[in-house]
This record gives sequence, structure tokens and C-alpha cells, in this order.
Amino acid sequence: MSIKATQEIMYLKGVGPKRAELLEKELGIRNCRDLLYSFPYKYIDRSKVYTIKEIDSTLAYIQLKGKITHFRIEGQRNKQRLIGFFTDGTGTIELVWFKGLQWVTRNYQPDIEYIVFGRPAVYNRKLSLPHPEIEIAGKEEAGMYTPLQPQYSTTEKLKNNFFTSRTLHRIIGQLLASLEPLEETLPVSIIRELRLMPLDMALRNMHYPESTENLKKATYRLKFEELFYIQLSILQQKYKRQSFVKGFVFSKVGDYFNNFYSTRLAFELTAAQKRVIKEIRRDLGSGRQMNRLLQGDVGSGKTLVALMAMLIALDNGYQACLMAPTELLAMQHYNTITRFLNNLGVEVLLLTGSTKKSERELLHEQLRSGELHMLIGTHALLEDTVQFNNLGLVIIDEQHRFGVAQRARLWKKTEQYPHVLVMTATPIPRTLAMTLYGDLDVSVIDELPPGRKPVQTIHYYESKRLVLFGFLRKQIALGRQVYIVYPLIRESEKLDYVALEEGYEAIVRAFPPPDYLVVCVHGQMKPEDKDAGMQLFISRKAHIMVATTVIEVGVDIPNASVMVIENAERFGLSQLHQLRGRVGRGADQSYCVLMSSYKLSKEARKRLETMVQTNDGFEIAETDLKLRGPGDIEGTQQSGIPFDLKLANLGKDGQMLQFARDIATSVLEKDPLLSLPENIVCRQQLSLLSKSVNDWSEIS
Ligand code: ADP
Ligand code: MG
Repeated sequence: MSIKATQEIMYLKGVGPKRAELLEKELGIRNCRDLLYSFPYKYIDRSKVYTIKEIDSTLAYIQLKGKITHFRIEGQRNKQRLIGFFTDGTGTIELVWFKGLQWVTRNYQPDIEYIVFGRPAVYNRKLSLPHPEIEIAGKEEAGMYTPLQPQYSTTEKLKNNFFTSRTLHRIIGQLLASLEPLEETLPVSIIRELRLMPLDMALRNMHYPESTENLKKATYRLKFEELFYIQLSILQQKYKRQSFVKGFVFSKVGDYFNNFYSTRLAFELTAAQKRVIKEIRRDLGSGRQMNRLLQGDVGSGKTLVALMAMLIALDNGYQACLMAPTELLAMQHYNTITRFLNNLGVEVLLLTGSTKKSERELLHEQLRSGELHMLIGTHALLEDTVQFNNLGLVIIDEQHRFGVAQRARLWKKTEQYPHVLVMTATPIPRTLAMTLYGDLDVSVIDELPPGRKPVQTIHYYESKRLVLFGFLRKQIALGRQVYIVYPLIRESEKLDYVALEEGYEAIVRAFPPPDYLVVCVHGQMKPEDKDAGMQLFISRKAHIMVATTVIEVGVDIPNASVMVIENAERFGLSQLHQLRGRVGRGADQSYCVLMSSYKLSKEARKRLETMVQTNDGFEIAETDLKLRGPGDIEGTQQSGIPFDLKLANLGKDGQMLQFARDIATSVLEKDPLLSLPENIVCRQQLSLLSKSVNDWSEIS
């Protein structure tokens, strides 16, 4: 009898309706295919047989070969335990059972050679093996013996129903014995070229590895396949967009751009900025719609690049807009840009939630008539009443703060898609960018303007507080300003505000008036009070600003050169890096001080160490990805990763992801629509993936 992969598991030997229901509920396994793709989370090597002399309680699982000399029952009536004395000639170890005593004595006899398997424990100061697995030596379950014993995740409920990792393994074994060979899911050419293990063999080896070598090959093949199809689907989307979505052609660079370039730049652009501007120009002139992600650390000069791109749009008779995630940031962009564009004849306005109604109406009109060239603002830009005359370019800053649906709304404002440039200062590791933004082109500004001194970062425990205060006094005496940031995990969390208030009071006591002025700024203040506090700091009247992460994005105050982060262990890595980016913007040496308690988790310690060791945002992002896993990385929470990765790990398999992407690229180069007979299998696999991918492609 042969079984098809699509068959429901209910009819499998050893399953039945009850277990089938349980497996579906607990593990989501419905048909044989699901079962085959439920991979073990680890394997225990049973190829090694230890001697009793060798073992100690630090070993995880061990296997012994020997005989039981005799049994003894110990303990009180209702707390009895059975001990089997087991020897292999090098020593004796106690096998211990607390349950099923009768069954054990009935089934295992002295003087037969057994293989016992279990995890050593210390009991009554003696080494023992509690509840070992026992098999007669040389008679390991015929045909199902594997030296690498897979361990499957199960649930409490499954265990309570006597369904263990072993049961699952056995059922899969029975299935494999009568399963029809599985059809290959990768093109034969790829299998051949990369010498991959065929699917059928790979799946068998995942559950019943013939050798360590074969298990490795099987895992490699299946992991590669996962990553390959993700990349193939993303790249195909991109290909389709590039071939079928037309873009406005910005063919020239005109007066706006040239005048700006020759009269307004007090400094030379960095090589990275020049390169990126070239990349953007190429996109804008190509006739295809630009969809580009611009990554660059805080202060690397992204805003300037965005401004120059907008001027190219204007030079070609189009309007441009820039959308920022917060009012503060929008205002700051507006101020910077109007200062840069002063007297160049560019009409720019700011639109936020607090723009007055009368101003708003005028703005709408000017926007529709085309009189207004450039619009800067917040989500307010997305409202339906905001209609452009001819929007040619959209810049989105700190894109991860905008939801997918919001971005989609901006497109709807024009008949034809405008060009889109998305900027982010939260460096996204390459591996993740390739998956999340795989269909965007990526530009990176990997260089800071010259003359910036790297921020020096120090980690202090609480006991160094007086040292810290002394240091701050010195810096203030030199004319510098200081940020002191408190964590605010949730805006509504009362306790966090208590910590902030108390911290503020303590700082004021240490830095009392009239010599010092300390302001406090947080998200629950009235906007006027917040602004007043900010203004005191911007105008350099205040020496210290105590704040929550309100200041995380955007504020640009070059004279503030010290960033103190309280309870730094409570912040995530990328947040710490963002905060540190607030300083180091001027010519002075800047400092970041991480204050923490003594009690640090392993991860928290690693975060603080990483911050002290490096200023490189990309390195930090990579570490963050490794520490937290991709689902938690800031900026991906809202979207999540839509692909169900069973084997691959984006934090660890970066190289393989790149490789899979290269292979996918070469497949598409030869056969963009996947219509060659050998690629039909790709189309089938992609259509299985397509539901999630369709939701996903909205992103760009
Ligand atoms: P980002 O948006 O990447 O954080 P900004 O564009 O705000 O960076 O630039 C940070 C600061 O550096 C601004 O004051 C800007 O005028 C300045 N700046 C930008 N490019 C250069 C450059 N090539 N040389 C010197 N200063 C620059
Ligand atoms: Mg910026």
C-alpha cells in the first residue's frame, strides 16, 4: 500500500481519529505532508556508547551497554521506587523508576545485555539514570534504528495523552515506510548544479538520518529551499513592478538643483552622498518607478540627499513631499529645508495635525493649483483632502513608523505612481533588508561627514553616580549641554513616570538653581509645556534636559554633547543606538554614559558591551538581530515576517540567504516569467507561498 503526502493522518497506522484531532489542535498537523515537515528541533547522538566509569552528572544524554544484576524496591509504600543495578564491567550505576515498577520488573531481566539510554542525575549522592529507555542490545527496533535520535517538540497536552517525541518519531517512521516517493520541489537543474539532496531523501534523513553527513546535507537542502523561494517571490514581484509600472521621467537637472548645489552647500558632499545621489538620479531618469530604501546612520546626511532629490523633481515640473513620523521631526525638517532653500524661489509649506484650518484651506488650494512645490508634514499629508497637482516624488522618513496601509494611501493621490524614497536611520541588517525590503533597491550612506568625532561610550554601575555628576559639571562648565534619558516602556506605565519624576528631582538637587537650569520633557506633558522645555534647551538656557524617549527621533542640537541613559539595561540595542545618535553632531568630543544596576541579564550585558565597543549602526543591528531574533527587531513588529521559516534563521543564515538570492536572480534572468518546463515547479511552489506574499508586496 502506498500513501500520498496529501492524505490525512487519521488513517495512518498508530494515529486514528482521536490522536489526529489532538495533533491538529496542538501542532497544526493535518496531512502527511505536515507531518513530514514537522522537523525535530535537535538530535541526540546515540552512536557513542559510554562506559560507566566515564560518566558524570554534567553529561546530557548518554548510552550504556551492559546488564542488570538485580532489582530492589526502596522507600515507603506510596513513595516507592525501583532500582535496577546496572553494570558494564567498569562500574555500576542505578537505574531508577518511580512509576510502572511492576511493568519494568516483568519486562526486563537480569543477565540480558541491554542498551540503556538516559540523562544522568545525582540521587542520594549517587549517580543514577532515572527512567531510562531500554532496548535489548543488537535488537534495536529493526529498520528504525538511527544513531541520531531526533527530538520533536510536543506539548503538555500531548504528553498527558502519552504522545511523546518518540511516538511522533515512530509514526513518521511508519509513514516513511509506505510513502509514495515525494515529487521534487526544486528545478532539477538547481539540484544538479548545487548538488543538493533530492527532496524525498532529504525529508527521510531529517527524521531518520543515515549519518551526520546526510543530516547536514538534508538540512542544507531544505533550508536553501525555504530561502530560495522567499527570494524568488520577492524578486519576481520586483521584476513585474519594474516591467509593468511606469515612472515619471525626470530627464534633467535644472536651476533649482544647480543653484542650490553651487550656492547653498557650505561643505563638500561625502563620497557616499554623491554615490547615492547618482543612484537616485539614475532611477528618476529611467522611466521606471523608483522604489528605493535609503539607509544611513543618524547624522550621515540623508535629509540633504532627500532634499536634492526633491529639487530634481521640481526641476522637471513636478511636486514633491516629505513625510515624517512625528510633528517634531516634520517641523525640524521644515526648518532645515526652508533655511537651505531661502531665496531660491521654492514654495514650501508645513502640514501637521496642528496646522490651523484657515492655513490648511489655503495650502490645499495652492497644492492643487501647483503653486506649492514642496510639502513637508506628518500623517496629515495622507488625508483625502490633501490633493496634489502633480506629485512626482514622495520621501518617507523613518519609514518603519508608518503602517503599510498609510503608505498605500499616498500612492492613490496620483494617477501614476510617484517615485518613492524611503529613509531609515534604524539600520536594518542586510539579511533582514533582503527579506523585508527585498523588492526595494537599497542605497546606503556608510560614511559620516568629516570632522565628526566618534561618540565615546562608557558603562557605569549605580555606584559611580557621583563620578558621573562630577563629569557632567565639568562638561557644563565647558559650555556643553546634557541629555538624561529615562526608559519608558509603555506610555501609560505610571511607575515609569515615578522613576522619571524622582530622577528629575534628584538631578535638580545635584544641579540646583541659580547655577543650573534643568528641564524635564516627556510624552504626557501638554504640548505647550513640552515645547517650552525644548525651547529652553535649544536656546542653550537650560543645561540639562531630563527626558523620556520623546527625544529619540529627530532633535538636532549640536551643542548637546553628553547623553546619559538611565537604566540602560531596559532599552533595546537599536534604541540605545538611536539615543546615542542625538549627540556627536557638533565639533566637540561627545559622550554617552550608560547607567545600569548590577543585576544584568546575559543579553543586557551583551547589549551594553556592544554599545561600548562599537559605533557602527550596522554591526549593532546585526548583534541585535542575533540577540532578539528577527521578529523583534524594531521596525518589523508591525509587519512581521510573513514567511513561515521552519529551518532558516535570518539572524544566522545571512550567507545562505545571499546565496539563495543570487541563485533566484540567475533563474529569473534566464526565465523571468518562470515559463520554461523545468521552472514550472517554481511556479507551483510560489503559488503555495503567494497568499502571504500578496499581502506583503503592499509594503513597497
Ligand atoms: P540624517 O538625516 O542622516 O540624520 P542630516 O541630513 O540631518 O542627517 O545631517 C546631519 C547634519 O550634518 C546636518 O546638520 C547637515 O547639514 C550636516 N551635513 C550633511 N551632509 C554633510 C556633509 N557632507 N558635510 C558636512 N555636514 C553635513
Ligand atoms: Mg534625519
